[in-house]
Amino acid sequence: MALPTQSKYIIVGAGMHGLSTAYHLAKELRLKGRGSGKDIIVIDKTAIGAGASGIACGVIRNNYYQPAMQELIAHSVDVWEEDAEGLGYLPVGYMQISPESMHQDVSEIYKRQKNISYESEFIEGEKECLKYMKDNVFEDWQAQNVTSILHEKKGGYAKNTRALYRLADKVESEGVRIITGLEVEGFKINGCVEGVETSKGLINCDYTILGVGPWADKFWRMLDLPQNIDVKDNEGNMHPDMKMWTYWSLQEGTLGVDPKFGMDNLGKMPPVIHVDTDAPLFSSEDNSLITEQMWGIYYKPDYHFMGIQGGATPNIVESREVAVDPYGVDSPDFIVGPEFAHTWTSALAHCQKRYEDKYIHYKNEPSGGLGAFSPDNFPVFDVFRENCYIIADSSHGYKMIGVGKLVAKEIMGDDQELLKPFRFDRYEKGRLLPESNSPFPWS
Ligand SMILES: Cc1cc2nc3c(=O)[nH]c(=O)nc-3n(C[C@H](O)[C@H](O)[C@H](O)COP(=O)(O)OP(=O)(O)OC[C@H]3O[C@@H](n4cnc5c(N)ncnc54)[C@H](O)[C@@H]3O)c2cc1C
Repeated sequence: MALPTQSKYIIVGAGMHGLSTAYHLAKELRLKGRGSGKDIIVIDKTAIGAGASGIACGVIRNNYYQPAMQELIAHSVDVWEEDAEGLGYLPVGYMQISPESMHQDVSEIYKRQKNISYESEFIEGEKECLKYMKDNVFEDWQAQNVTSILHEKKGGYAKNTRALYRLADKVESEGVRIITGLEVEGFKINGCVEGVETSKGLINCDYTILGVGPWADKFWRMLDLPQNIDVKDNEGNMHPDMKMWTYWSLQEGTLGVDPKFGMDNLGKMPPVIHVDTDAPLFSSEDNSLITEQMWGIYYKPDYHFMGIQGGATPNIVESREVAVDPYGVDSPDFIVGPEFAHTWTSALAHCQKRYEDKYIHYKNEPSGGLGAFSPDNFPVFDVFRENCYIIADSSHGYKMIGVGKLVAKEIMGDDQELLKPFRFDRYEKGRLLPESNSPFPWS
């Protein structure tokens, strides 16, 4: 099929956000009698799921210290539930297992979950937490320095690419054309964006939507947006000249055992486990001390990755120029190495006895990947250059399947309260999202 020279809406990126927006926008156009999916094209330089969405762990949780994130994620969980089976969403729940330094923050998260009717349970006290884990989840639980557990009964995880292919099917059934192997190289800007310059020519358009995940910085440059910005914090202090996009290398991997090995006391799929603790971490290989600092891991049995899959705290990438391409498992720089494997498998053994001698089964294959983070590590959902909607999720976003639904409504002229806290002008106005005491930049 020939490349179009014009499309009313151009969506760049066939990841979670691009696809979700395409589907919901097509539906809005059809239902409101203002057009159809034929008015939309989705462009991806590689393929569906070629970016962060295609390598994500797929965890869906509400455990956020920021009320605005909690409400937004609750909305996304509703969207996952609309087609759980089709999207490969497993609503097994999620557990945030924490040390005393996080107790207060997590208890606030729990209270807010109650207020928004997001079902969860909060367990407090070291003995009570141990008993709860042993009785209800894993009889071999042994993690130390745990004084609270937030057990979210909703959320869980989705089978990575299955959700993306399902979304792509829905997008195409609305009449949207997905064009892969077509790279965006720039924009025709005349006050607003009049067209998209691609590797195969110019496509004129009325409106552009970008869901380009880790390529946020590159597109920011193409649109001539500021590389550095002044940020006002919530106390009114100015932080001049902060980098707009910072990269973190997300650390994930898989233990190559049968996923059944990770099931709960009843032989069922357990909740996703996230543990943060300040207990010293010792090597499961030679008992040497790995760290006395606070550390954190998450994991779940996973049939997509075929094993026990999970991750640990990410590493910031210090260099000024970061090679985003080749991305993901093809990157020579941003995949996890032996240090991650050692720490993560030792952390698994710290948490559950059954993993004490299982480090030898760690899958020695490339995993992990880059994420682009904003100055306060939270998403930016906003319109730039008058008609270019940027969905820059600051690496929070596989779980955020509902953002595309809200963005579609905004494009139709209906501003969404849930998206308002994520506007770009919060940096200038000193309305940042509050910071938690978690060791992860995205909690
Ligand atoms: C290792 C890892 C684990 C993660 N785990 C989780 C998790 O468990 N839960 C969670 O909620 N989030 C997780 N995330 C974050 C989540 O994956 C991302 O926030 C989300 O997938 C971003 O989606 P997106 O649609 O914006 O971008 P992407 O999925 O990255 O898609 C962007 C697309 O844009 C295309 N593109 C780039 N440049 C161009 C161009 N010039 N022209 C045309 N197309 C272009 C790319 O090919 C790509 O397909 C994880 C991220 C990583 C890296």
